[in-house]
Amino acid sequence: MPQRIVVLGAGYTGAIAAGRLAKRLYREDVAITLVNAEPDFVERVRMHQLAVGQDLKPRPLSEMFAGTGVELKLAKVTGVDVDRRTVDVMDGNGAEELAYDTLVYALGSGWNAQGVPGTAEHAHEIASRPGALRLRERLGRLEAGQTVTVVGGGLTGLEAATEIAEARPDLDVALAARGDLGDWLSPKGRGHLRKVFDKLGITVHEHAAVTGVEADRVTTADGKAIPAAVTVWTTGFAVHPIAKATALEVTGAGQIVVDGTMRSVSHPDVYAVGDAAYAMGPGDKPLRMACATGGPAAWQAADAIAARLTGGELPNVPIRYFQQCISLGRKEGVIQFVTADDRAVRAALTGQLAAVFKELVCKSAAWVVANPTLGMPTRRRRVARERATAGSAVKAPA
Ligand SMILES: Cc1cc2nc3c(=O)[nH]c(=O)nc-3n(C[C@H](O)[C@H](O)[C@H](O)COP(=O)(O)OP(=O)(O)OC[C@H]3O[C@@H](n4cnc5c(N)ncnc54)[C@H](O)[C@@H]3O)c2cc1C
Repeated sequence: MPQRIVVLGAGYTGAIAAGRLAKRLYREDVAITLVNAEPDFVERVRMHQLAVGQDLKPRPLSEMFAGTGVELKLAKVTGVDVDRRTVDVMDGNGAEELAYDTLVYALGSGWNAQGVPGTAEHAHEIASRPGALRLRERLGRLEAGQTVTVVGGGLTGLEAATEIAEARPDLDVALAARGDLGDWLSPKGRGHLRKVFDKLGITVHEHAAVTGVEADRVTTADGKAIPAAVTVWTTGFAVHPIAKATALEVTGAGQIVVDGTMRSVSHPDVYAVGDAAYAMGPGDKPLRMACATGGPAAWQAADAIAARLTGGELPNVPIRYFQQCISLGRKEGVIQFVTADDRAVRAALTGQLAAVFKELVCKSAAWVVANPTLGMPTRRRRVARERATAGSAVKAPA
């Protein structure tokens, strides 16, 4: 019987993990199944671009995985039973159960409305492609002078507000941030951000904690009403509830707690990567939800699984931050260089050079998904029968 490896989610991290495993192991020794709800690889980092009407390159998963040995299953995951080692999926033909020996959980995340009243009825999200397409349709119906308010002053909010303002200079765009605009950036990064916001005519509401969304406005904790024909909600991401419904050890927010090899601390045959995982990074800080660290985490998981199955040396992929790449429309940006644990240093790239840099980063992120061993020659290894079940005997890197 080949080892059954089931990977849930073909986003940035699941696709990398599946593709890399297929390059590390002999085909006859493993059956790798990649389950994804949508037929395409979705470049989530470009959802603000999709929302303003830009067309993204289609990336069908069937083409991406053709000839790799990975079996693609287009279906929605509805549940996982980690005691029976099965996954419930649903597709056009009905429900099915998939059995696994090793599971890689990479279902990513969606928007986080944080229970704020009115969000479900009135706010738009750009954490998913359907959400971005709904916003695109709504923005298309707005007339000159109407208001768009982006709630959330994090990376996604900054990118969304500037992208909308650049694409639709006829609209009145505002951003509501809990703190000061870009307050975690270096003085250079912050200064440039403010310059671009001014140039694009974006109204910034700082220290604005939004506590309610209505059809034509958002309201803040201090009683202010900010007009909003359209509200775009970008206050962080929340994981899907599937993991929380299992016996896996998860955080209060539902992320799967993993060790340095991305293996569940409670169930050694389960790995988790990307937004769905709670992994410690440099400085003993949990990794934030980002491709920047999700990609290396997926390499780590795939190589650890391969090592445990083949009796090879466990890898210790360095997972650290280098920069935060913020697009500010298509012509502007800020590349904020950071410490290994994600704190801004003085150096930052700004302007058009930063926009080009960010575009390159997005392109390379998609390239890495299709080239999970970075185009390097790889040696496949044989699964050692006795190792396939004795994985926990191999010591994890510190
Ligand atoms: C607008 C925007 C801009 C961003 N910009 C950046 C950036 O500049 N830099 C950066 O590092 N990060 C950025 N991020 C964050 C980054 O996109 C995520 O951290 C990254 O996508 C996480 O990868 P993942 O593999 O965990 O999840 P995803 O890429 O979301 O992949 C999850 C996959 O699982 C599938 N799936 C989900 N549920 C199910 C189910 N029930 N059944 C079957 N399939 C399912 C989805 O269809 C998807 O294919 C941005 C995010 C957004 C929304």
